This record gives sequence, C-alpha cells and structure tokens, in this order.
Amino acid sequence: MKMVFLGPPGSGKGTQAEFLSITLRIAHISTGELLRQEIADNSALGIDARRFVESGALVPDDLVMKILEKKLGQPECSKGFILDGFPRNIPQAENMIRAGISVEKVFYFDVPEEQVVDRLGGRLYCSSCGAFFHERYNIPAKAMVCDRCSNQLIRRADDEPDAIRNRMTVYREKTMPLINYYKEKNLLTVLDASRSIDEIRDTLLKEVGQ
Ligand code: AMP
Repeated sequence: MKMVFLGPPGSGKGTQAEFLSITLRIAHISTGELLRQEIADNSALGIDARRFVESGALVPDDLVMKILEKKLGQPECSKGFILDGFPRNIPQAENMIRAGISVEKVFYFDVPEEQVVDRLGGRLYCSSCGAFFHERYNIPAKAMVCDRCSNQLIRRADDEPDAIRNRMTVYREKTMPLINYYKEKNLLTVLDASRSIDEIRDTLLKEVGQ
C-alpha cells in the first residue's frame, strides 16, 4: 500500500506513520527526517538544506525530490510506503506524478492550530533514532532519555516559538491547498487528529482494513 499522511506539523503524522509502517511492513518515509540525517552528516545536500529546516521554511522542491527518489529506490520501499511530510505543496504533488510515483490513499490529520502549537511546544526528539516523545502526551519512561535507544532527548531547533509560527504560516499558505487537491482526486480520508494517539491509531487500522 502506498499512502500520504498530510497535516500540520505536530498533528501526529510521524507517530502514526511509524506505528502503521511496522504493522503493515511497509516503509515510513519522513522527508523531514531524511533532511535531518543529511544535515547531521554534513553532506552537500544537508549544508544546502540546513537554513531552511532550522527556520521552519520549506526546502526547495528539487532538493527534496532528490532525497525522496534516492530513498524510493531502496529495496525496503518496494512493498509500499507511507509518505510523512511529502508532498508539502502542489508543485511537489505534481512532481511526484511526473516521476511516476502514485498513491492509493491520502490521510488528512485534521487538528486545530492551537492544539498543534501546544503539542510542538512540548515535543522531545531523539537525534539518534528519530523517535518523538512529548512532555505531557507521550512521556518517555526516563526523563529526557529515548525509550527506544537510550540516547539523550533534545528539543528540535524548529520547535522553538519563532520557527513554530513560521511553520504554521508555511503550512496554511503552501500545504493546505493539497487538502482540496486530493479531495478532488477522491483520495482523501479526513481523520480527527485532535484525539489521543491510541484513538487515532485504532481509526487508521480500520481504514486500512486491519
Ligand atoms: P517535519 O519533520 O516533517 O516537520 O519537517 C521538518 C522540516 O523539514 C520542515 O519544516 C521543512 O523545512 C523540511 N521539509 C520536510 N519535508 C519537506 C518537503 N516535502 N518539502 C520541503 N521541505 C520539507
């Protein structure tokens, strides 16, 4: 199965994509995570992308498309995938079609903006394995330590208030038009993402026939 998770930053796309990809044995492709890895590796692509990611702006479409196609060429993506955070604007969706990348379902994580800002504010990130936790809604067993790999948790630079505001503006202007774009293509399923992690997970499982 090939699908897209669409929604504002902090709507829970990454958390649910990780879980569902394990259940369905398909790849979880987070373009944000791929970019953060390139930045951590100090690759040429990472150096180009860094200032966009840290300020909460979108990385240029051709750069993101390059890392996406590199990832999709790997064997682990051959059985299907969840695209988490891609496409982020209509030109990226059109690039995808031109590159022959098709999807069967698009889940829209619908959540009010105030709630998203609250979630992003308390978010904790493991720069070693990419896992996310939250100070109040997804608390790690040991304070500031990753449950999965025991690395120290941090706050992402783009989860600071100025960058959050920037990301929400970018989301409203560039990403929201994709909701109608996919609705018109009859691919869109709207999820009430203001609910708890477990409730959203149960709905998703039903939607994919599990
Ligand atoms: P995320 O982890 O999805 O919140 O993404 C973190 C950051 O990576 C975003 O704020 C953008 O700077 C960049 N990014 C991730 N995916 C894309 C994309 N599809 N297009 C452009 N920039 C992206």
